[in-house]
Amino acid sequence: MSSSTVITNIATLVTNDPALGDGSPLGLIQDAAVVVEGDRVVWAGESGQAPATDHRVDAAGRAVLPGFVDSHSHLVFAGDRTQEFNARMSGRSYTAGGIRTTVAATRAATDAELEANLTHYLTEALRQGTTTFETKSGYGLTVEDEARALRIAARHTDEVTYLGAHIVSPDHADDPAAYVALVTGEMLDACAPHARWIDVFCEKGAFDGDQARAILTAGKAKGLHPRVHANQLSYGPGVQLAVELDAASADHCTHLTDADVDALASGRTVATLLPGAEFSTRAEWPDARRLLDAGVTVALSTDCNPGSSFTSSVPFCIALAVRDMRMAPDEAVWSATAGGAAALRRTDIGRLTPGAYADLAFLDAPSHVHLAYRPGVPLVREVWRRGVRVA
Ligand SMILES: [Zn+2]
Repeated sequence: MSSSTVITNIATLVTNDPALGDGSPLGLIQDAAVVVEGDRVVWAGESGQAPATDHRVDAAGRAVLPGFVDSHSHLVFAGDRTQEFNARMSGRSYTAGGIRTTVAATRAATDAELEANLTHYLTEALRQGTTTFETKSGYGLTVEDEARALRIAARHTDEVTYLGAHIVSPDHADDPAAYVALVTGEMLDACAPHARWIDVFCEKGAFDGDQARAILTAGKAKGLHPRVHANQLSYGPGVQLAVELDAASADHCTHLTDADVDALASGRTVATLLPGAEFSTRAEWPDARRLLDAGVTVALSTDCNPGSSFTSSVPFCIALAVRDMRMAPDEAVWSATAGGAAALRRTDIGRLTPGAYADLAFLDAPSHVHLAYRPGVPLVREVWRRGVRVA
């Protein structure tokens, strides 16, 4: 039997279980304690009622919340797109580049270089409180390069997504149908053993609704579960296709019709909002308020990638969501923890309730609200993952 540790003197504990706490979705407990045994939470409640344990940790009046669940990132890549960002933000047009720049650099990189880069950004995210992350392929776009990206990612997370359908490979620019056949055929066969999810960028200039449907359906037949890059740059069929195919998540959701919102409200597909992308491209914000008021489950994630959203910081995304997407601080914190877990169809993370993994973020603040109240301040003081202090 592993030893037990009580963490006491927590000013505000976010459990994400209304029944455990104050009845709100965050399940808040003031002057709280958490008991960890092995890699799991075994008890959470008021400090005065904590059971006896082997060890004791004093949280010194900090807030403790579940480690962030970053359910959307693109971290298997090489190269840099500083110039593209600089040109965009300086009001100059920049035509070369885009995803293709990263594809060329990623193909040219060694396995060791890709893994070192991935590890670098994972460590950066962990220090900022992220204890679970999803990541994707999508910068290889050949059978070998997509499969190796997934193999590398799978050494670091269970939440691995095959995104051969990120854009039509430059090698097939004149024949998109042949590329879709590759993505749903030989490439899928090589990638499926290394992934849990299949994703497609359903957008003008990437893949249309029929192509996206064919890609996701082929993935499902191979045991992969769908998620969709949907309605980011324009209105389109992505969101409704995601709901129809019971995708775990429709990601971006920046341009939505009433029918799109109704579809999300009627199904169990989570709307994952990625405000780092709108920030970094000076684009229109997704309307989180409209989704929440319609009863849609909303997740918040970084979309960390070298082109359109090069942030690994979930706290930054929380601050943007509160300031610019009209989310209440409680809603944004829920979406970055329990919402991310829902977008990965997980119930063992994103909450601090008995049986869940002991993934915890300690803030140098008495309340989770400070994540939005004090934007840009590195408030995450300590991180535990699976019951072990890691940062
Ligand atoms: Zn993305």
